[in-house]
Order: sequence, then structure tokens, then C-alpha cells
Amino acid sequence: MFRKIVNIIPKDFHPRALVVAITVLLRAILNFFGIAMLVPLLMLILDFEALQANPIVTEVYNLLGCKSHSQFVIISAVAIVCFIALKNATNLWLYNFERNFTYDLYGHLSRKLYIDYYHRGLLYVADHNSTELSRNVNFVCLNFVIGILKPSMAIVGEIIPFALIIIAIIFYDPTASILLALTFVPAVWIYYSFVKERLHRYGQQENQAQREKFRNVAESFRGYVDVEISNAFPQIISAFDNATDRLVTLRKRDATLSTIPQGITETSLAAGMAALIIVGAFMPERKIGLVFGLFAVAAVRLLPSIRNILTSLTAIRYNLHTIDTLSEIKSQSHSVEDTQQRIHLRKQMEIRNISFRYSENASNVLNDFSLTIKQGARVGIRGVSGAGKSTLMNIMLGLYTPCKGEILIDGVKLDHSTRRMWQNNIGYVPQNVFLLDSTLIENIALGVDSDQIDYDRVMEVVEMASLKEFVERLPDGLNSHIGEAGCRVSGGERQRIGIARALYKRPDILFFDEATSSLDRTTEQSINSSIAELSAQNSTITIVAIAHRESSLEYCDQIINIERL
Ligand code: ADP
Repeated sequence: MFRKIVNIIPKDFHPRALVVAITVLLRAILNFFGIAMLVPLLMLILDFEALQANPIVTEVYNLLGCKSHSQFVIISAVAIVCFIALKNATNLWLYNFERNFTYDLYGHLSRKLYIDYYHRGLLYVADHNSTELSRNVNFVCLNFVIGILKPSMAIVGEIIPFALIIIAIIFYDPTASILLALTFVPAVWIYYSFVKERLHRYGQQENQAQREKFRNVAESFRGYVDVEISNAFPQIISAFDNATDRLVTLRKRDATLSTIPQGITETSLAAGMAALIIVGAFMPERKIGLVFGLFAVAAVRLLPSIRNILTSLTAIRYNLHTIDTLSEIKSQSHSVEDTQQRIHLRKQMEIRNISFRYSENASNVLNDFSLTIKQGARVGIRGVSGAGKSTLMNIMLGLYTPCKGEILIDGVKLDHSTRRMWQNNIGYVPQNVFLLDSTLIENIALGVDSDQIDYDRVMEVVEMASLKEFVERLPDGLNSHIGEAGCRVSGGERQRIGIARALYKRPDILFFDEATSSLDRTTEQSINSSIAELSAQNSTITIVAIAHRESSLEYCDQIINIERL
């Protein structure tokens, strides 16, 4: 497990992790001295004679020029209080390193996991539940830091002074240490072996229940109309209730298990005291007071320590599943490519003998497919549903890598190194244009910072996509809010926004993926004539459209049919 945690922490955080480890150690040692300082104080009161026998103490006593026992006690007590106050202030300062490290690491891991998922590509994203991916990015990373890292450091920070205290007591008075060990160790051991496996299981089950809850909520809002018309809400709410019930039960169990350490430690303390009284009956009177005092001081410090260790172990067992999720992060570069360079299409795009299948065991969706698209051509690709049109489109967009064959743009091979530059030169309109929950202008200039948006270009593309009337009707024109929580747009308007977006970046080539298939005939014709018009006015722009019906491709001058294999 330790190896896995170290592997999750990125290399550039390792030096900081080392500094944090040192500060945790320093804090632990300081904490030990904090408690150790109480022993001489105790002896000052209970066994001054024994203390006086110590040559160092006599030296200090003489150095301070103390005239009486009480003067020495007062000076020592003030010095001890000052030391403890200073120790706590230092500890607070040292804690900053741990706090900054853990939360900075959370930010870093969350970003890294997000970019990692994104870079896994369309095939991965399409195959996974988006709510689950976003939950991992936002919550699992936080749970790892709070539920694994912080408790691990807490355990180290507690165990060191704990061990030192026990060792010191063994040296000073074995009776008290044996009693402490006998009362606490078996209780802690029994508790931990009882909860260990349970907690791991509860953690995994909670993760599963959380996932289901998130999915139910997201799906019911995303598919509201379908859910409502199909009367699927009762079924969804029952699945939601089921997950909530499981979650509530797990949380209750976890809460119960977390309160047990307090009971265990207190009972152990009482048992230790009782044992001490019994053993004390056989000790000289002076000695029993000191042993009792030592036991009490140690127990007062050890009690919360043991509780903290147990609670931390509980948290770690409960959050073990986060390690698996984060271990999946690939160690490739997590930088975001942001080049503005383009690969231009001046002559032709060649699709050469392309084959594609979705997985090793699946059969080919495309087999040895070739096509040459000249600059300025309007190519329509037609085929029945399932023929592989969208697959071909995603290959042309650089989103899927073909299993065989290649795509050349003016002789430049489309691969992972040229993909971004090719995409910078592409306009793409899908069947359901994705709208950002933002203003219309930000939706048109998608990916451009609001203060960098070229307003004149936006007005141009609004005109080209025949959106002018729509913009004039909006309450705040281009600054009106559209998207998920914004004002409603019709199917036709949505597609026109998609066209305006595609045109904004002045692409050499426009891809339409069933862009008008879900529209009524009149709207489709109107959009088709807008496309035909903009294509006539920009003769160098290349158009590739895929559709299952001929009417969606009326502006094309070359139609390719693809068959289902
Ligand atoms: P079209 O766009 O012509 O309707 P697609 O390219 O979407 O066809 O799909 C072609 C075939 O590939 C279909 O049999 C479909 O089930 C399969 N397919 C599409 N996407 C995936 C995917 N992500 N994983 C596995 N199979 C897929």
C-alpha cells in the first residue's frame, strides 16, 4: 500500500513530501518532549528527594542560585510552561508544511486525473459514465488526501511520541509501562482486527452507493422529458432510495465503529488504574504515588493518541478504494496542448485504405476504405444507420486512430502529433450541437476567452448562419444566456448556432455529422440553403457531410455510399 501511495504522489512533489515527513518527525519529537517535561514537574511535587539526587538537577539548582525548594519549583514550573507554549507555537508553524502539501497535492491530483481522463480520448470517454468520471475528479481525489494521506501522517505523528513515551517509562519505571502496555495493546489489537476488513468493505460499498446516487440524479435531470413521459421517475427514485438507504446504513455503522475507540481507551484506562491499585498494595507508599502519577500523565497523553491512531486507521481502511482509482493515472505528460498552428487544406485530403474496429474481438466497422476529397469539394457520405458513418467522421476529425491505413492532408499524415493542428482548421457541426451554459457569444466563440472574442467576426458568422433574426429577438442579443439553464432555443436555432461556431475560426473544412437529420423538412431545407449559400460565397471551403437520408445532403456535389459490413 505504501508503494502505491508513493507512486500516486507525483515526482515533483517528492522533495516536498520529504520536507513534510521531516516536519512530522520534528512535531512528534517535540510532542514527546512536551509530555516528558511534565515528568520532572510531577517529580518536583511528588518525589523531590529523588530529583535532588540527580547531579544535573543539583547543578541547575545551584546555577539558578535557588534559596529554597519552592523557589526552584516555581522557576522550573514557569520554564516548563514556557517550553510547552513555545513547542506548541513551533508545532503550529510546522503544521503549515503538512497542510499546504496535502491541499496543493489535492489540487494537483484533481487536475492531473481530469486531464488524464480527457486525454484518454473519445473512445474512453464514450465508454464511461460521465458523472462517475467527474465524481472521481472532484471527490475521490479529495477523499484520498483527507482519508488516506492526512491520517497516515497523523499515525506517524502519534506513533513516534507514543513509542518514545513507552520506552522512556520502561527505563524510568517498568511497572507503569507494563501496566500501560497490558491495558492498551490487547484492546487496540482486538478492535482493529475486528474492524479492519469491515471498514474496507464499507468504504467500497459506500463508493458504489454514492456512484449510483450521482448517476440517478444526473440522469433524471438530463433526460427529464423522457423520464417524465415514460413515468420512469418512480423507478429512478426507488433506485435512489435504495442507494441512500445503503449509504445511510454504512455511515451509521462507520459512525458507531468510530465511537468505539473512545470507549475502549477509557475502559482500558480504568482497567489500568484498577490494576495499579492492586499492584500498589505491594509497593512502598512513596513509589506508588509516583507510578500512579506517571501512569496518569502518560495515559492522559496516550489516550487521545490511541484514539487518534484508531480513528486514522478507520479513515484509511474506509478510503482504501481511492488508491485504486488514482493508481490508474497514467504517468504520461499532463500538459494541455494549446498550439494555434494549423495544417491547411490547399489541395486534398486522402483517406487511404482505412480499417477500423472498436476492440480486438469486434469485427471491422470499416474495411479498407479509401476516398480523396479535393479542396472546395462538397462531399456527402450516405449510408444506413450503423454503416459506420460516424466512425469514419471521428477518424477524419482525428478523434479515433484507424487500425490500418492513414489520412494525409496535403501529404501530412494525421496522427497524434498533427491532430491538434488539423483540428484547429476544422469546423464541426454534430447532430445535437452542444451548448455551454453561458452567453450566446461565448457559445459561438467556444474556447476563446471572453475578452479575446472578435465581435465583428461573431457578427459575420451570425449573418452567414442566418441567425441575425434570432439574435435580434433575444432580450440581451449576443449576451443573452443560453444553454442548460439559459433561455430555450429551438432545434433549428441550436444547429445554426453550431454552424456559426464552426465558421467562427475560419476553417478550411467543415464537417456536418447528421447536422440536420433531427430537424423538420422546412427547417432542414432552410439550413441546407444557408450552407449552400455560404459554400457558394466561399469557394475554397471544403464540406464533408454525413447523413442517412439524401435530403440532408442536397448541397453536396459528390455522394459516396457506405454499406454496413
Ligand atoms: P452510423 O453513424 O453509420 O450510424 P456508427 O459509426 O455510429 O454508424 O456505428 C457503426 C458500428 O459501430 C455500429 O455497429 C455500432 O454499434 C458500432 N459502434 C459505434 N460506436 C461504438 C463504440 N463506442 N463502441 C463499440 N461499438 C461502437
